[in-house]
Amino acid sequence: MRFFLLTGLMFALMALALVTWPSVRAFAADPPPITTIAPPELSMDDVLHLSEADWKKRLTPEQFQVLRRQGTEPAFCGGYSATKTHGPGTYHCVGCGAELFTSTTKFDSGSGWPSFFQPIPGKVGEEVDNAHGMERTEVHCARCHGHLGHVFNDGPAPTRLRYCINAVTLSFVSTPAAEPKKD
Ligand SMILES: [Zn+2]
Repeated sequence: MRFFLLTGLMFALMALALVTWPSVRAFAADPPPITTIAPPELSMDDVLHLSEADWKKRLTPEQFQVLRRQGTEPAFCGGYSATKTHGPGTYHCVGCGAELFTSTTKFDSGSGWPSFFQPIPGKVGEEVDNAHGMERTEVHCARCHGHLGHVFNDGPAPTRLRYCINAVTLSFVSTPAAEPKKD
């Protein structure tokens, strides 16, 4: 009897996951290729305003759901959650190309979402988020206002902050290794 209850519960949870996130299977283990660069007519200091239709053209459905609809991807789906798989580099906003975080501030929180203890100064904005009956601090790209995730007070030193970011909003650009000296 207990076995059937557990099996039923598992199926119910799986069905719920599929209903709430129909494109869950679209998240591959590998992060999407970097396709977004800043439009040439705008500098990286200009705020990027686009219409909803333009955002839909520019982003994948999963990116749109998180960045423009404050969605949350399932944990462990995005490919940037494990610290060890990426070397030195910079994490950019897939919406507008702005630099958001560096690999030196990334840590493995075990949450299933990429986590950082600090953004690049001035690149990430914060807002109080009262959705889902909780008071949390929402974080977004300062340039295009795309929703990235939330920040919590349970991170490591030196800031004790944990920026919990949806991997689907990030593109990683690795820093090229320094050229060996020729002399
Ligand atoms: Zn952005």
